[in-house]
Amino acid sequence: TPRKLAAGNWKMNGLEAQLAEVDTLMATHTTPVCDILLCPPATLIDRMARRIGDGKIAVGGQDCHAAPSGAHTGDVSAAMLADAGATHVILGHSERRADHGESDDAVRDKVAAAWEAGLVPVVCVGETLEQREGGSTLAVVGGQLQGSIPDGATAATLVVAYEPVWAIGTGRVPTTEQIAEVHDFLRDRLSQRMGGEGNGVSLLYGGSVKPSNAAEIFAVENVNGALVGGASLKAGDFSGIIDAL
Ligand code: 13P
Repeated sequence: TPRKLAAGNWKMNGLEAQLAEVDTLMATHTTPVCDILLCPPATLIDRMARRIGDGKIAVGGQDCHAAPSGAHTGDVSAAMLADAGATHVILGHSERRADHGESDDAVRDKVAAAWEAGLVPVVCVGETLEQREGGSTLAVVGGQLQGSIPDGATAATLVVAYEPVWAIGTGRVPTTEQIAEVHDFLRDRLSQRMGGEGNGVSLLYGGSVKPSNAAEIFAVENVNGALVGGASLKAGDFSGIIDAL
């Protein structure tokens, strides 16, 4: 069975002072019943990892370059994230796909780079409102899933997050039926491709998850956790979500 994971994506938010939230989280969750991951901006990874020490919170990046090193001004490699204390990296987030034109091919190369550096990628897929209304949700997320993940994934080396673009930062959440439909579909596809390993991949839901709706979302079969944006910035809110898992 997949591991339960509460993952926070701080996006482009957080200066030194924001790390106080991590102290609060650690004090609250000394023996967590699920895995907890925080993905701060790259500038805070090292400081956050040091602050956590052997605490029970994992640290991740929000993106990495596909190359191990080289002439790529402004980019960060997977090995650099690992060196700074990260164990995970979010890849193919819809904001990266939209703002930086990341294609499935580009994401797939980044996933391979993450594996090379020993990181677990959290690969994001999700449809726009237009695509949902046009009836192509499953085709879109199926294509992203197939195209963004190289062969050779295992349950231990892959996390997948379903994040409908229209639910991100909008307060609009799909119905549990809509979430179930996509998560069941993703599970089927992963099992077809990876065999038994596909049954063990953690499938996260992301998009306007809050303490008040988390329990309902986590009750959906094949939802094994959440990828949380805004509500992961406040320890109290993120704790409420962790407790719902
Ligand atoms: P919100 O939780 O702020 O809607 O963001 C979701 C998200 O994009 C997490 O990666």
